[in-house]
Amino acid sequence: MNALLEKIVADCGEYVSQGRVATYIPQLAVADPDKRGIYIVSDSGEEFSAGDCFDRFTMQSVVKPLILMQALMDSGIEKVQALVGVEATGKPFDAFNYSDQALTGAHINPMINTGAIALCTLIAGETYEIKFARLLELARLMAGNPNLEVDESVYLSEKETGSKNRALAYMLKAYGMIYDPVEEILDCYFRTCSILVDCRDLAKIANVFAHHGMNPATGERIFPKEYARYVTATLATCGMYDGSGKFALDVGFPAKSGVGGGIMGVIPKRMGIGVFAPALDKHGNSVAGVHMLMKLNQEMDLSIY
Ligand code: GLN
Repeated sequence: MNALLEKIVADCGEYVSQGRVATYIPQLAVADPDKRGIYIVSDSGEEFSAGDCFDRFTMQSVVKPLILMQALMDSGIEKVQALVGVEATGKPFDAFNYSDQALTGAHINPMINTGAIALCTLIAGETYEIKFARLLELARLMAGNPNLEVDESVYLSEKETGSKNRALAYMLKAYGMIYDPVEEILDCYFRTCSILVDCRDLAKIANVFAHHGMNPATGERIFPKEYARYVTATLATCGMYDGSGKFALDVGFPAKSGVGGGIMGVIPKRMGIGVFAPALDKHGNSVAGVHMLMKLNQEMDLSIY
């Protein structure tokens, strides 16, 4: 298995030149586009890996399923769905060209920026520091890694330059979807995006989703099955943004990407996968990462469709 993964990592090197590392968050521009890693945690607890799987990168949007999960755990399905819908948007992750005159929850999805920013308000906690601490704790618990921390330089870089997210958040406020101070909500959002992980952490997080909230490593239930299915179904509709349909065809399992170059793949009841390769396609999805998952599906028949 490790030999297969090594081959996949090596073969996918040819796709790196088709992508570009993210530069709109200046600190992400320093990433080495040639890095590639993969990590799998299987049903039986076996772990397989190849390449730069222990290189660390920031979660970015891969944290969105965790924001949704924490909001579900703290506020319940009804409140979450009243604020943020579940339909595929078919639009970029930072889109604000909504065609209707009013913005409503039905227009947004938890896996795009507006949805994730809105959902930060449904996390329990007196302050946004406390809400963030709850999210970091969930990430640590799912990854089985108590050392997960924020990359301060990436966090500050996005905080300094995040005009578009500010615009999106003010739009949510203008339409009465959020009420708290925008800067506080965004501070929580930017911090969660800057949590540092490696492919192993992503594979472990994905594996908990794959096992419907049960941590297969410890037998501990972290969240109810109902919420796990909610989040995983949302990944299938919008986890790869406006590349989700093609990803469903080419790869065929729920996944979430981030502009740090990470993707987590959830194979229900079977395994969690973490891949990393920082050069991105036009949707903001890792080019080599998608190809690694595509090849893995061809070899292991992982598609759920
Ligand atoms: N922090 C990034 C942003 O808000 C996350 C986007 C992404 O990973 N697609 O722009």
